[in-house]
Amino acid sequence: MEPGQEGRVQGSLRIPSGSGGNKALNGLRIKGFQGTSLLDYPARIAALVFTGGCNLTCPFCHNGALVLHPEDCPDIPVDELLADLEQRSGFIDGVVVSGGEPTIDTGLPAFLRELKKRRLLVKLDTNGLRPDVIRRLLDEQLLDYVAVDLKTAPERYDELHPATVNSALLAETVRLLRQADLAYEFRTTCIPRLVTTREIRMMGELLRGVSLWILQQYHPQHALDPAWQQLEPYSRQHLTELATTARTYVRQVQIRGV
Ligand code: SF4
Repeated sequence: MEPGQEGRVQGSLRIPSGSGGNKALNGLRIKGFQGTSLLDYPARIAALVFTGGCNLTCPFCHNGALVLHPEDCPDIPVDELLADLEQRSGFIDGVVVSGGEPTIDTGLPAFLRELKKRRLLVKLDTNGLRPDVIRRLLDEQLLDYVAVDLKTAPERYDELHPATVNSALLAETVRLLRQADLAYEFRTTCIPRLVTTREIRMMGELLRGVSLWILQQYHPQHALDPAWQQLEPYSRQHLTELATTARTYVRQVQIRGV
């Protein structure tokens, strides 16, 4: 969960867990829901669902409880969530599946199939470290939009987790999306400790030629690591300078959150 998504896991639909439900969907652990968003799916009205757990523990994460202790957040029964989405289908275009990291949840493909049966568009928010899952979802045509959060230069990903991170997997995700026939974006939150001109250049080499790279302002409140709550965000001018560098690598760069 990137800075800016905080506070939305405790969504508008809270249903006690324990109903039997569709066994094919039992693997999915949905921890949060927001019925309507105008901000999270470009040019669409969408509902948001949040899965629990993540394969990173970024010190700037805005939902540490969901990442570190997903078992403490009750599951929202998927059948009842789908029924709620059907009721909303007249005024939402699709669903954004976010996290945590949705691609580590084994129930994700079955859930997306259910969304597609209901003719809902699907946007996936991911950190891009499970290209095997993304490839499968693309092959099944279960995705309409993918947003990949690129945190820093690949060589610095070990700073985002206690265990070694195979950041080479990011290149495979970039390759898959370049070749896929769907809309996508890459996003980077410009955190002073992780993203300088040097890291923009290294990420730019990875992203060279992609259609859209969004640079986001860092909002330090609620960062998982208290020390990261003290970081001073970049000025608008510095973000603009980073964007100028980024534009030498990709077709379009946008700045968000300032
Ligand atoms: S990838 Fe990082 S910021 Fe996103 S949910 Fe996981 S720990 Fe949080």
